[in-house]
Amino acid sequence: MAANSDESRGVVSAQLLRGQKALVTGANSGIGLATAVALGRAGADVVVNYVVGQDEADKVVEEIKGFGVRAYSYQADVSDEDQVTAMVARMVEEFGTIDIMVANAGLQRDAAVTEMSLAQWEKVISVNLTGQFLCARESAKEFIRRGVVEEVSRSAGKIICMSSVHQIIPWAGHVNYASSKGGVGMLMQTLAQELAPKRIRVNAIAPGAIRTPINRDAWSTPEAETDLLRLIPYHRVGDPDDIANAVVAMASDLLDYVVGTTLYVDGGMTLFPGFATGG
Ligand code: NAD
Repeated sequence: MAANSDESRGVVSAQLLRGQKALVTGANSGIGLATAVALGRAGADVVVNYVVGQDEADKVVEEIKGFGVRAYSYQADVSDEDQVTAMVARMVEEFGTIDIMVANAGLQRDAAVTEMSLAQWEKVISVNLTGQFLCARESAKEFIRRGVVEEVSRSAGKIICMSSVHQIIPWAGHVNYASSKGGVGMLMQTLAQELAPKRIRVNAIAPGAIRTPINRDAWSTPEAETDLLRLIPYHRVGDPDDIANAVVAMASDLLDYVVGTTLYVDGGMTLFPGFATGG
């Protein structure tokens, strides 16, 4: 069953998240877009955050509203404290609360270490790591204020950090990105330990190679794709829906006892495929 087939969509459209309120950062492209749509399909009301590209964000909103749930787009830079605070405050005004925070926004600014500017380093750390800290902090405040509402969910709230296989795989030429995702792993675990007693579940999803604009160079030519497939034992490049489906499951009460875990959704990329025939 293809990840984006009608059949698989049926599986996650079982209204698993009915009545819940979700916010997805960077939701007008790639994984965030697919995730926002999947959460809406599963019955959640959704805030579609974007930093640039309002038209794309508004299209996502229209698609989500087609499921009979509420949605609106909201512009905010996740690395800006005031903007993140205002975004969550507006959501509480508009939807009454927040149940699911998907800290997805991320970017790359690649360079060999000797060529990497401080600006490139700081940009990636501030969006990919500080942005997740700010989103987690603001949503945790609301989860704690509101507490558990049994009819909605067994937990007081879910924070899902979009990580990467580079949480654990070093990546030459990308020291800023790999460091940000390594940081996301520890951010997630520490927050999970701190917030679990408040019945808040913090977890990470770590995608492998997913076909989105962030990594177009890695799959847009047949040669590049062949190279990439060497790193994927399951031998297919992932689709945004592969990740979106994992987020829906992680956010739902089906996985209520999953706390402080990283779910690798990577076709086996973290299985050291270079050792399949060597070593
Ligand atoms: P993408 O470029 O399609 O989407 C990234 C989104 O983040 C865009 O909507 C972009 O506008 C947004 N964004 C960037 N800076 C922002 C900011 N300051 N504030 C708010 N939004 C901002 O890429 P994607 O592949 O969908 O990436 C989504 C997440 O998945 C990222 O965290 C990325 O690191 C992670 N990821 C992707 C892959 C992959 O193979 N595509 C693999 C591992 C991890």
